[in-house]
Amino acid sequence: MWYVMDAGKDAHLYYGFRKEISKEEFEQRIKEDTLLEVLNAVPVQKGDVLFIESGTIHAIGKEILIAEIQQNSNVTYRVYDYGRVGKDGKKRDLHIEKALAVTNRVPIVRDKSSYPHVADCDYFTVDKLNLDGRIMNRIEGFVSEESFASILILDGEGEISSGEETLSFQKGDSLFLSAGSGSYQVEGICDALVTTIREKAAPVRIGIDMGSTEARIGLVDIHQKLLVQESLSIDASAAPDKIIRDIAQTALALLEKQGIAVDQCVGAGIGVPGTIDRKAGVVRSSNNIRWAQVNVVGEIGKYLPIPVHIANNADCAALGEAVAGAGKECQDVVMLTIGAGVGGGVILDGQTYHGKGVGGSELGHMVIVEDGKECSCGRKGCLEAYVSVKALIKEAETATGRKLEPEEIFRAAGERDEALKKVTEDYIRKLGTGIVNIVNIFRPQLVILGGGISGQCGMLLGPLRERIEKDCFGGRQGELPEVETAELGKEAGIIGASQLGTGFF
Ligand SMILES: [Zn+2]
Repeated sequence: MWYVMDAGKDAHLYYGFRKEISKEEFEQRIKEDTLLEVLNAVPVQKGDVLFIESGTIHAIGKEILIAEIQQNSNVTYRVYDYGRVGKDGKKRDLHIEKALAVTNRVPIVRDKSSYPHVADCDYFTVDKLNLDGRIMNRIEGFVSEESFASILILDGEGEISSGEETLSFQKGDSLFLSAGSGSYQVEGICDALVTTIREKAAPVRIGIDMGSTEARIGLVDIHQKLLVQESLSIDASAAPDKIIRDIAQTALALLEKQGIAVDQCVGAGIGVPGTIDRKAGVVRSSNNIRWAQVNVVGEIGKYLPIPVHIANNADCAALGEAVAGAGKECQDVVMLTIGAGVGGGVILDGQTYHGKGVGGSELGHMVIVEDGKECSCGRKGCLEAYVSVKALIKEAETATGRKLEPEEIFRAAGERDEALKKVTEDYIRKLGTGIVNIVNIFRPQLVILGGGISGQCGMLLGPLRERIEKDCFGGRQGELPEVETAELGKEAGIIGASQLGTGFF
């Protein structure tokens, strides 16, 4: 947008066309140097504002001082240069072909109101600050986390204070208050433009949650809120590079659908089940999707021109719950994801704990019964072998001869089906043993239970809290963690993945 700071008596700006013209006429007039005849010349005076949308032909006439606020963009095509020459004595390049392709050749309707703002678009909002020294000589403002404030002094002078700092300013100065800098005061006699960016222009991140049958792809905003998501079914027999290409293209399509420029997207993360080499960006092995030595980060990078990070999907779910779900008030959180298998994620001091080597925080594979039941990992007695949803269903089948869903098993147990009551009691005992071990090692503030078992947590939480109190080291003398159900469901993995590499995690 242009704000006219000063203008001579007959000053005018060129702003779009007077009437609609064809591409051919546009081209012809450029060649014949008669373009000015069809341009819309707008007389201006001090204080006028023109909003110049992309694709609008524009030029500044003589005796005008303007302040220009614009989206960060480096593309301006020159179509007419008044016959001027540069310092080298040659005419400057014109960009006629490119301009013909993008120029809006229809006259502009000028009454698009931005009230109460001076200008308001997807990229920025401009407000005018006017301290006349009589009715008003002081204002207070606040700069939130959502946007910086850029203050351009149009006229007058005064002082600005923010935090401990005070600066004096005068006409032509430009002041920048970074996002989150809080309250500020302006005193004096002055006119100024205050520019902020809208949330839509704030950065977004891509989060990808890979499962064995589908990938969920989402866009996450700066408040860790999932803006939009899409599922993509995965054909496990397809080549990994094809699957990854489909995922990346889905992410790009989501950005386009939301009207978000790629350069507004600042990073992507992907959670994959299996053993992940995070630093190399490689999935070393994944039973679920049958990948071995797949360079996921490298492949995604072919399509997405942004930093990409990878982690185990259970770590991502824990991270998602820790930043935006059940654990958002906590710094130290352990999450168990109980589904077909048992995954775990550990957040300590607000950061994902991965261990030094590859393949850490496999909480589901802590041994709770020496020489116990066989586990999917090939070892014996792991927590997963007793408390996965698969294990629960199998135990219930052994006890009753029927194949029941977790919900039916817990309901029947509550209705005094003795055989199933014994199954669920044993299930809770084994899960409790695992959680007590976790608490004794990490002593988190919160243990979150997520995954397919979440629906049954209402019946699990009471007995598990009792067990923690009874069996954790130090009992009530120590600080005991809460146990809660996950809040974000399937969104946790997407949100968590999107936060990988943000510096905090
Ligand atoms: Zn195991």
